Amino acid sequence: MRNRMIAGNWKMNKTYDEGVVLAQGLVDELKDGTGSVDVVVCPPAIDVKGVAEVIQQANAPIAVGVQNVYWEEKGAYTGETAPDMITAVGATYCIIGHSERRGYFGETDDDINKKAKALMAHGIVPISCCGESLEVREAGKHVEFVVEQIKKDTEGLTIDDPSKYVVAYEPIWAIGTGKTATADDAEEVCGAIRKTLAEIFGQETADGIRILYGGSAKPENVGGFLEKEDVDGALVGGASLKADSFAAMVRSA
Ligand code: PEP
Repeated sequence: MRNRMIAGNWKMNKTYDEGVVLAQGLVDELKDGTGSVDVVVCPPAIDVKGVAEVIQQANAPIAVGVQNVYWEEKGAYTGETAPDMITAVGATYCIIGHSERRGYFGETDDDINKKAKALMAHGIVPISCCGESLEVREAGKHVEFVVEQIKKDTEGLTIDDPSKYVVAYEPIWAIGTGKTATADDAEEVCGAIRKTLAEIFGQETADGIRILYGGSAKPENVGGFLEKEDVDGALVGGASLKADSFAAMVRSA
């Protein structure tokens, strides 16, 4: 019912030329196809056009995304990128609400909600991130914390096609730390996310929305997460920066 998804978040890594080389490596690694797995790579915005061109020329089944958007159409918003600028360079996905953007750049759930609406109005698929800090987890409040984020981030959204809205559960304490949540930890929260989505959008829509796990996911551990009912794939940081590791994760999905 839901195609699995492996999405790579390159973060602020890879110059334009390095990004093109990584994209070519991925195209080569995945030349035999990706089966029913949806594959997305999200390079830095300045690399997107070059990465998209490599993928288009090879006709490879890899979608391209960006890591941020601003919700206005155009104007005096120095440093920001509008939705139609994203589609114009061949990107079809956008990560929003990453904990690094929430933490370092002060993004709020209200911002993330506005970004989701703007993206969806332009046919771009949001990969909307949520997740708790170590402090919240140790206080045993992780499920209620993430459920609240989901409610605020989706407020007033209309989801006609559930394959066009993706959630990524990324516990902050597991991002880039080498410390992964267990598959049961991930399922506990991903199951609660799906239940919340069902309450908001109805069961059928919730059953069609992909929920990814993110946080030190790598070829050796991704299989365990994917065995879980409510985990439909992975959002991958560090391990997406090497074509062979990322391709291995796609193959094991
Ligand atoms: C991320 O930042 O989205 C992420 C999951 O990073 P890492 O895989 O490096 O923990």
